[in-house]
Amino acid sequence: MRRRPLVAGNWKMNTTIREAQQLAEAVVKAGADVVDRDIMIAPPFTALEAVSRIVRDSTSVQLAAQNICWAEKGAFTGDISPVMLKDTGCSMAIIGHSERRHVFGEDDAMINKRVLGALEFDLVPVFCVGETLDEREAGKTMEVLENQVRSGLAGVTADQAETIVIAYEPVWAIGTGKTATVEQAQEVHAFLRRLLGSMFQKNIATQIRILYGGSVNPENVDALISQEDVDGALVGGASLKADLFDRIIHFR
Ligand code: PEP
Repeated sequence: MRRRPLVAGNWKMNTTIREAQQLAEAVVKAGADVVDRDIMIAPPFTALEAVSRIVRDSTSVQLAAQNICWAEKGAFTGDISPVMLKDTGCSMAIIGHSERRHVFGEDDAMINKRVLGALEFDLVPVFCVGETLDEREAGKTMEVLENQVRSGLAGVTADQAETIVIAYEPVWAIGTGKTATVEQAQEVHAFLRRLLGSMFQKNIATQIRILYGGSVNPENVDALISQEDVDGALVGGASLKADLFDRIIHFR
């Protein structure tokens, strides 16, 4: 089964509100002819509301936050609640991005709370997993990923699992210009799908979209997404350049 592809742009800590509006306008324009795939953009929190006004009439572009708290409100200084994110027009949230794990020290238990919080409020988690270079070189890639997936999705029901998006982002490929080969990506994606099948059910695992992320660009996107179990891309750097992202969402 071929799942509906998703091309997601993670703008990270970039763009003023004005710059975000201009980029969002370009993405909406680029995505106007798109019917067989979804597009998601994740601007910084400060630009969500402004960007929401630009994407709300688009049938193909969805708005995401770059992180999400599990609680509805209260004493969580610096975090943003699912209710607040829905209020800005978000329908999705990136969770467990490698920069959250490795720069800010978010662990699997916290990431799991964020996943459950997003699901409780009907936001789609884009749940990120990935191994470091040391872990890959030590032959521990699958073990690390299995731990991340089992802990990050603990307590998720089969019905909820169907709606989530997983992003496989090898840490060594994020922002480095190094991309996993198509064979490496496919091997991991197939492994993740088998794992999801054993945690939920096979027919649920076949519906879950698994994106590849890590230095995706116009030159490598076609080959990556042509792989059986690669259902789209999570794009960082290249999503900040309207022309590059335009080409990526029009992957062939
Ligand atoms: C990312 O931020 O999720 C990412 C994959 O970044 P880049 O495309 O720049 O490697």
